[in-house]
Amino acid sequence: MNRRNFVQTAGLGGLLACLPGKSLALADEKKTTKGGTSVETDIYRLKLRHTWTTTMSSSTYRDILYVHYNHDGISGVGEGAPIVRYKEDAKGAQAAVDSVLPMLDSSDPTQFEKVISEVFTRVSGQWAGKAAIDIALMDWMGKKLGVPLYEYFGLDPKDAPVTDFSIGIDTPAITREKVKEAAAFPILKIKVGLDTDEQTIAAVRSVTDKPLRVDANEGWTDREVAARKIDWLSKQGVVFVEQPMPADRIDDLRWLHERASLPLMGDESCRHPADIPKLVGVFDALNFKLDKTGGMMQTYMMIQMARALGFKTMLGCMVSSSCSITAAAHLSPLVDYADLDGNLLVANDPYRGVTVKDGQLILPNRPGLGLLSA
Ligand code: MG
Repeated sequence: MNRRNFVQTAGLGGLLACLPGKSLALADEKKTTKGGTSVETDIYRLKLRHTWTTTMSSSTYRDILYVHYNHDGISGVGEGAPIVRYKEDAKGAQAAVDSVLPMLDSSDPTQFEKVISEVFTRVSGQWAGKAAIDIALMDWMGKKLGVPLYEYFGLDPKDAPVTDFSIGIDTPAITREKVKEAAAFPILKIKVGLDTDEQTIAAVRSVTDKPLRVDANEGWTDREVAARKIDWLSKQGVVFVEQPMPADRIDDLRWLHERASLPLMGDESCRHPADIPKLVGVFDALNFKLDKTGGMMQTYMMIQMARALGFKTMLGCMVSSSCSITAAAHLSPLVDYADLDGNLLVANDPYRGVTVKDGQLILPNRPGLGLLSA
C-alpha cells in the first residue's frame, strides 16, 4: 500500500491496514517471574512509512520499548518511545525497567499509584521507560476492573477531540504531495523551524486552505525573527505556533508571548509538574506526551494542573505504535487539542486500538487499553 492509499484508509478508520510485524522484534527480551507475576521487556523496531524529519532528527525507523505485565492471569502492555531530545534510547529505557523488575514483581498492581510513585523515586530520568511501566499497569487495571480506561478516568469518549495530521519537513514538491494525501484530516500540523519555513507554508497553502498548526520545535533562536515569522504565519491561516524558541529561553519566550499575534503552545518547555506554574504568561497552551511526562497517571495530573492555571491543553505523541497512542487517546476527552497521529506513520504496528475517522479519534470500548493484535 502506498502512502496515499494508507492515509486515506487510516482516515476512514482502517488501521486494519497496518502490517503485522511481531517478527521484527529485536532479540533483546528480559523476563522475571515470581508467584503469579511476570514482567517482560521487548525492544521493537518501528519501521516508518517515510523518512521523518524535524529540526531535531531525521530517521526511517524508531526503536521503542514494550513492557508486558502479567499478574493473576491478566496481562497488560505498555509502550515507551524514548525521546532523542532528552538523550534517551530504547536500551536505556529497558535498563531502567530492568532495574525495578524485582520491585514490580513483588508489588500489588491494584495499588498502582504506590507502585508508580516508587518507580519515579527509584528511576532517574528515562521517562519513556516509566511510561511503558505505567501504561502496562493501567492496561492491567482496566482489564481487572473490566472497564475501558476512559471510563476508569471518568471521561466521555464522545468528548475525544479531532486529531491533526503532522507533515514533517521536506521539499516543497513532497510537502504538497503529503498535504494532498492527508485529505481525510481536517487540521494539519506543519513542522517548521528552518530557513525554508516560508516556502514550506507556501507549498502547503498552494494545495489546501485547512487550518494549520505550526511546530517550530525550538528552531528559531532570534526572538525578533521569531516575532516576524509568527506575524507572517498569522496571515496564513495558522491557529497556533508550538515551541517557537528553545525550551530554556523563558525570558525570550515571555517577550515573544507579549507580542505574538498568534497563541503560543509550549512543548519542550513543559516536562515536569513544577514547570507548569513557571509557564503562566509564557504560553497560552501546553502539549503533554506520555513519553515526556512518564505515563498516564502523571499526564492526567499535569493536564489538570495546567487547566487549573488557565492553559489550553493538548495531547501529543512521539512516533509510536497503537499501544502508546491508544493510551494517550483514552485521556484525550480531557484536552482541547490532539496531535495523536504517531501510529499512522508506522508500517509495522503490531496493535490496533484507537481509530480515526475524518480526524475524529474513536476510542475502543474494550477493557483496559482495548488493544487487538494487528
Ligand atoms: Mg512539538
